Amino acid sequence: MKIGTPKEVMEGENRVAMTPDSALQLQKLGYDCAIETGAGERAGFADAAYEEAGVEIVKTAAALWKAADVVAKVRVPTETELKRLRTDLTLISFFNPGGNEAGLETAAKKGATVIAMEMVPRISRAQKMDALSSMANIAGYRAVIEAGNNFGRFFTGQITAAGKVPPAKVLVVGAGVAGLAAVGTSTSLGAITYAFDVRPEVAEQVESMGAEFVYLDFEEEQKDGSSSGGYASVSSPEFREAQLAKFRELAPEVDIVITTALIPNREAPELWTEDMVKSMKRGSVIVDLAAEKGGNCKLTVADDKIVTENGVTIIGYTDFPSRMATQASTLYATNIRHMMTDLTPEKDGQVVHDMEDDVIRGSTVTHKGEITWPPPPPKVA
Ligand code: NAD
Repeated sequence: MKIGTPKEVMEGENRVAMTPDSALQLQKLGYDCAIETGAGERAGFADAAYEEAGVEIVKTAAALWKAADVVAKVRVPTETELKRLRTDLTLISFFNPGGNEAGLETAAKKGATVIAMEMVPRISRAQKMDALSSMANIAGYRAVIEAGNNFGRFFTGQITAAGKVPPAKVLVVGAGVAGLAAVGTSTSLGAITYAFDVRPEVAEQVESMGAEFVYLDFEEEQKDGSSSGGYASVSSPEFREAQLAKFRELAPEVDIVITTALIPNREAPELWTEDMVKSMKRGSVIVDLAAEKGGNCKLTVADDKIVTENGVTIIGYTDFPSRMATQASTLYATNIRHMMTDLTPEKDGQVVHDMEDDVIRGSTVTHKGEITWPPPPPKVA
């Protein structure tokens, strides 16, 4: 069978779902590999590198989709791409099944099998395929780099001949995968770093990275911040008030705020209010990683960078992984390669779609003409 990767068509998307290295691994599983010409260019992978890795270069997207038995890509397929689905085709991609009813219906009608990468169950065995985590890790890192790029001072404190420089103070709100990556990057750059999360079980991880976990005078409730499967639940009004009061206290102190707070299947909670922004020092920077879900900061503009009247820069980019396309493509292509390993038990270049397998079942959103989303909960942790 042949695995093909087209060029991403969404404007500004630089990632690619197959790298020369991942192609070599896929060939070891018995597959032929093909790529649309120029698909890896913006991620730093030239056609020649693919050719050297034994990948066939195909001139057009149409020809690529036609030739492939499995199509691996990054972004949710466009209408044109959906039209290219067919009965004997497996598509592996982000698919946003919760917000893409039309896509699910088309894929089912066409009889294609669709594996949605954001649906990979978050169980230990599937960590190597967890594209949400690999991309969140990059987003957290890059958020700190973008903050630094818009901040006029050092992160680390210095005593120099020209004077004493105080260290920057960074607050990370939400210490999930992206938040912890931001904490690690910030402490490694030498900033005094604080992190807050409604799930107090992350305090130990935060502290092990050299940052300080922010506790509220509300410990009972902070103990209840996590609910299903380690994710956050909606906070009570009293807890939220205590949280906002703490943030109001911190706002004039901190130089950089990275917000990453999300609750599955909901708009992002608003945690950094207008008055907090107004009380921040001139030159401070906010990076809102929740921008795509409405933002944690009241003033965030998604996909944009703004500077408020009091000189605070607010960054609402929604393409952090694409801004590090080489790294993101390498990790994403590895996630896909692991998915293909599970789909190819005999390493004979033949896909075996085992709907009894928790990981495959969990991430399959259409199969044999049916919409198979949402999946039943996984049997094992
Ligand atoms: P996420 O992106 O959904 O949320 C980001 C963070 O925001 C979470 O830590 C959440 O607790 C926090 N948050 C929500 N509301 C908040 C509020 N009001 N104030 C402050 N913080 C708030 O989360 P994620 O990074 O995808 O991961 C969440 C969970 O999933 C964690 O328990 C993580 O360990 C787990 N996980 C497990 C696996 C695995 O087992 N394979 C992989 C990845 C993540």
